Amino acid sequence: MSMPVHTPSQRPFTGMLLDRATIERKDPARIKQLLEDPGARTVLAGSDGVLISGGNAPSLLHTRLSPPSPHEAILLGLEDGAALFAVDLDSLPPSVRAELTNHGRVVSLRDAGAQLSHSEAGLAAYLAALLNWHRRHRFCANCGASTVIAEAGYSRRCPRCGTVHFPRTDPVVIMTVEHQGRLLLGRRAGWPPGRLSVLAGFVSPGESVEETVVREVQEESGIRARDPVFVTSQPWPFPASLMLGFHAQSDGGEPESQDGELEEVRWFSLEAVRDAIHGRNPELQLPPSVSIARFLIEQWVALREA
Ligand SMILES: [Zn+2]
Repeated sequence: MSMPVHTPSQRPFTGMLLDRATIERKDPARIKQLLEDPGARTVLAGSDGVLISGGNAPSLLHTRLSPPSPHEAILLGLEDGAALFAVDLDSLPPSVRAELTNHGRVVSLRDAGAQLSHSEAGLAAYLAALLNWHRRHRFCANCGASTVIAEAGYSRRCPRCGTVHFPRTDPVVIMTVEHQGRLLLGRRAGWPPGRLSVLAGFVSPGESVEETVVREVQEESGIRARDPVFVTSQPWPFPASLMLGFHAQSDGGEPESQDGELEEVRWFSLEAVRDAIHGRNPELQLPPSVSIARFLIEQWVALREA
């Protein structure tokens, strides 16, 4: 049985449809106008997940709750001319929060990725990523003063020293590495036996992403990767990563955990990986389909069977 080769645009947590209003958000008078528009809606997320509606086809719960004030408004964007704002559930009094959770439920972003439609899961990732950043960056990294929201949520400004802070996105490379039709998979410390995935790691300062691929594979397995080719990317706001998916070749060798991050690392045959995708390999449990890891593994198999 051949599997579909997914296109990168179908990646979970992508496909958000809002107009980000990059120009309009710089105009405070326009933001005030958008806030006063009866068509404006607000979606919410907290540190433990996003607020979604009930029912069989859930979406983010669109409420008429107003942001605390125009200068604290976080504008996600525009949909048919109407504004969609974001409010942090963690910032609300318990009574307001309880009222909201009467109308919907808070689910983890991972669960939202599995339950919501493609574009709605993309919106959930955007919402969570932006609020994660505001929640964790209230103080100026330069002078320590409290910062204030600017550009309707796309930056924060320090009133004391004037530094402007922009939302963080932390690049992470994740890669299939192959040698003669076999795939390199590892098991991180703490994962149950049988649960393996492709290797991954944060990009270091002063490093290209291609260099990170080679370094991470060497550090985690002792295997020398070469010729990394970019495949696709996926936002991964847990809390602020951007996953950059690569495929790389190697000259083989016996993989061995180098730095203690992996408890197990070895080569798997095409057959073993394919059986695991179809749930027919009790010795290999692959990561869930919401992750780019699963996509890279499935695509590796699909391209070899096409
Ligand atoms: Zn400052």
